[in-house]
Amino acid sequence: MSAWTRSRPLGPSLREYANGAVVVRSGLEPREMLAVLQAIEVAFGRKRQGQRWRSRTLDLDIVLWSGGCWADEVLMVPHREFRARAFVLGPAVQIAPRWRDPVSGLTLKHLRARLTRRAPPPR
Ligand code: ATP
Ligand code: MG
Ligand code: MG
Repeated sequence: MSAWTRSRPLGPSLREYANGAVVVRSGLEPREMLAVLQAIEVAFGRKRQGQRWRSRTLDLDIVLWSGGCWADEVLMVPHREFRARAFVLGPAVQIAPRWRDPVSGLTLKHLRARLTRRAPPPR
């Protein structure tokens, strides 16, 4: 488990969020894991109705899976946005820096370095 870090919200919600990452060892298939994570979100009081990025108590996403890629109507692994999210890559690098994204072939450490590298000066 990583340390907790604080981040500004995406979209319209007003609160800051605490972000963290965990590596979970499990025999569950990705869809079964998603169901477990959603049950935990509900247990923490999350309501599923309404806007995607409204304030919520808990968001548990599957970022990577040791089985590589998964895509069906409700689940895509790797998470489609994780390469662009410092609040995901920061905690994830703490616990699994050498885990390779099966899509880009880059490690988490490399993905985060790419994201946080300073932009070139405007011309
Ligand atoms: P974001 O995808 O931008 O992180 P979110 O996590 O706030 O958004 P949710 O409302 O938690 O979005 O989930 C919407 C749906 O996304 C879920 O019901 C689930 O079917 C789907 N989903 C697709 N890929 C994943 C994934 N890798 N992890 C969790 N949920 C996923
Ligand atoms: Mg999410
Ligand atoms: Mg989610």
